[in-house]
Amino acid sequence: MDAGIECHFAQEALNLSSPAGRLGADIMNAFATHYSVNLSSEITKGQNGLLKLGLYPWHAPVGYLDMGEGGKMKELDPIKAPLIRKMFELYATQTYSLEALAKKMYSMGLTNSKGNVIRLSVLHKMLQNPFYKGLIRVKGKFYEGRHTPIVSSRLFHQVQMVMKGKFVLKGLKNDFMYRKAIKCSLCNYSLIGELQKGHIYYRCHTKSCPMKTLREDVISNTLSNAFMLVEFYPKEINTLLDLLTEIRENWASEKSALLNSIQLQRLNTQKRLARLTDLLVEDTITKDSYQEKKGEVLSELLLLKEREEELTTQKEGIFKRTEDFLEHLKTLIKTYKKTNRAKMAHLLKIVTSNLSANGKELLITMASPFYEAHQMRLLHYCGVNREMARTKNRTIVFSLIDGNPIKDPPLSKKQLCIYLDYLLSDTQNLCQFNDEDYSL
Ligand SMILES: [Zn+2]
Repeated sequence: MDAGIECHFAQEALNLSSPAGRLGADIMNAFATHYSVNLSSEITKGQNGLLKLGLYPWHAPVGYLDMGEGGKMKELDPIKAPLIRKMFELYATQTYSLEALAKKMYSMGLTNSKGNVIRLSVLHKMLQNPFYKGLIRVKGKFYEGRHTPIVSSRLFHQVQMVMKGKFVLKGLKNDFMYRKAIKCSLCNYSLIGELQKGHIYYRCHTKSCPMKTLREDVISNTLSNAFMLVEFYPKEINTLLDLLTEIRENWASEKSALLNSIQLQRLNTQKRLARLTDLLVEDTITKDSYQEKKGEVLSELLLLKEREEELTTQKEGIFKRTEDFLEHLKTLIKTYKKTNRAKMAHLLKIVTSNLSANGKELLITMASPFYEAHQMRLLHYCGVNREMARTKNRTIVFSLIDGNPIKDPPLSKKQLCIYLDYLLSDTQNLCQFNDEDYSL
């Protein structure tokens, strides 16, 4: 007004060019300002009152319905409320990224108000909105809501933990049990896991490959059948350990006899060296001849020393390694039934050397020395054939709908003796266990 702009009031006829008119306008203006400030304070008072009553004075969050003005209690949306619950449940499984969850929820019918996929930032806020567990949060303050919760506070908490990454195991989003573990027998690519309708399926990496998809639980059942075949009977392992102790004890006495004999040979050789020096002093042999003979004797001494070391350490290493392996067999395979991905990967690495699928069958190539034990049982075969150990075709084919296999009878003591000999002769090929594996 002071800037010389003409101002007209719709209801009052005021002449702003006269002093009286200006005064009237100023009074009107003051009233208007007061009214506006007062109104917003009254509204705030009203909102606080409603919040304290557990009523939400704004638009209902997705999953609830507005029931009218004045902050009337929100009611569950019969269509969207179950979808919201599903959304929390799915996210809590840790198999969904926010993006995958948004797509999934869209496919199930949960959309934004325009019927589109819910934006990730909105989805993120929804998963954090405590309204769904029955609390109202306004500017950091919490009020106990009167509305019916959609999710339990436990599920809500789980979702918050997943979101913070507290539950996520070593970067494992979408990490499936048999990730990179099974190959397509047609094109040799690793099968990829996918979550579909609550089941995990594996399909070939190659889009055009005719290989059928495999359900994870079917693979697991088939694998446990396979593991059952290579699993050792507890009494077999105990017998093997007993036999090993026997061999070790025999070895201990044999060793001390051998060490004694080495000691003798050593003394003799040292005497020969002394005689050689005498011969040189007496001029009985030439200097050249002396050096040559001395070289031979020293080599002999070195050889004896090496042999002694071998006897004391190397053999003991072989025993220790075999013993460790047998001790591990006790628990190794038993874990397959309640296993997680890391344990399964470890088990597969030790027991199999290759795993592929052709849609109907699982082709399991067994690793040493599991294959040999299996063969001995299968063929009631007495010896471990060296040729057999080298055979490339160690693959056992399991039909994916196989029932329980019939386990072969345990190996006889004679067979176990032969098997242990085989283990001791080839400890280089025995799988090594490190400390991490002990937590199996
Ligand atoms: Zn393929």
